[in-house]
Amino acid sequence: MNVAARSSHDTIEKFNQFVIPNYRRYPISLVHGEGSYVWDAEGNRYLDFFPGWGCNILGYSPPRVVRAIQEQVEHLIHVPNTWFTEPQGDFAEALCTRGFGKAFFCNSGAEANEGAIKLARLHCSSQGRYKIVTCLNGFHGRTYAAVTATAQPKYHEGIQPLLPGFLYTRFNDLEALEKVIDAETCAILLEPVQGEGGVNIADADYLRGVRQLCDERELLLIFDEVQTGMGRLGSWFAYQHFGVQPDIMTLAKGLCAGVACGAIIATEGVAPSLRPGMHASTFGGNPLAMAAGLATVQTIEADGLLDNCSRMSGRFAQSFLQLQKELPIIREVRVSGLMVGVDLTCPATPAVASCMERGLLVNATHDTVLRLLPPLNITAEQVDEGCDIIAEVLRQIATSG
Ligand SMILES: *Cc1c(COP(=O)(O)O)cnc(C)c1O
Repeated sequence: MNVAARSSHDTIEKFNQFVIPNYRRYPISLVHGEGSYVWDAEGNRYLDFFPGWGCNILGYSPPRVVRAIQEQVEHLIHVPNTWFTEPQGDFAEALCTRGFGKAFFCNSGAEANEGAIKLARLHCSSQGRYKIVTCLNGFHGRTYAAVTATAQPKYHEGIQPLLPGFLYTRFNDLEALEKVIDAETCAILLEPVQGEGGVNIADADYLRGVRQLCDERELLLIFDEVQTGMGRLGSWFAYQHFGVQPDIMTLAKGLCAGVACGAIIATEGVAPSLRPGMHASTFGGNPLAMAAGLATVQTIEADGLLDNCSRMSGRFAQSFLQLQKELPIIREVRVSGLMVGVDLTCPATPAVASCMERGLLVNATHDTVLRLLPPLNITAEQVDEGCDIIAEVLRQIATSG
């Protein structure tokens, strides 16, 4: 497969000249993708266990989504929210009937969290409550409220002052949470499974305790499901997997299978606090993204991908737990649905490079964690193919280190 107009080298040259170099990029230009595979400009094929940083929840070029976009683009690409459109109503219905409440659409995870933070403060403003508590090692995005909510000092360096009114507490520690709540607290915001922070899985007991605390103190519980939503854990949303109902949930990443989109879902009681004039997003809920989102939901359902997610989750867990018995450099294996973290006793970045040389794309996060976010439609053969490569790479690191 080679549809490249120019070599990776020439594209890199163009970037050097015209693109702000704020990303560390692999020296490869990608040109085409199908399912779990993606091709570079030189025609090399890669098996991708981290497609689109989790956005490509159906892999590359999922047929129903491609067709839905093609059909929609002929009618309307964009219409502002001063009008009603069929695709926005249909996608909101698809999400809320599988989840809860009502939806507001925007364009990214950070934007969804910004809106959720505003919504929480609006909802509690008459009582003078505005403080938001978030968890250490969480990740909520790069805009000012979202990055302030992200309790990781490395993301705050050089950009102070941050937004006032945020407090941080240890993840999975109910007692610590209770201690930071005061009379001015309005909400708790957390990821049910911390993704960027290293695939840290909440205890169901902890989340139930957080819910109870929120009920007792009249706090809003906000789940950032930007990464855990849309079937990633084998249920439509992580809150269902854990059996703990939030008041507000934010979505993005896999929401429209790779088309930029974010959403806030809020209960019937909370939603009206986002009243006209207080919040908006020009591109939010545009027909193109909405059509892609509806086709994403339809694909997950028609192809039984929630079940496949759970099955493949078990296959990953089994494979890496087996490997852990053999390799002491594997400190811990953390798997929740198709969020997979292999925590090493050494930096994970060299393993990423070695996997790439062998045609497998994976990610490293939080220094030592090899992280995978494979698509929900990954096959058993692809799981085995990739896990074999990772095993080979980790064996080599274990013997050479
Ligand atoms: C990626 C991510 C975000 C930020 O999303 P963007 O679309 O990059 O703004 C927020 N929260 C979580 C949990 C994420 O994984």
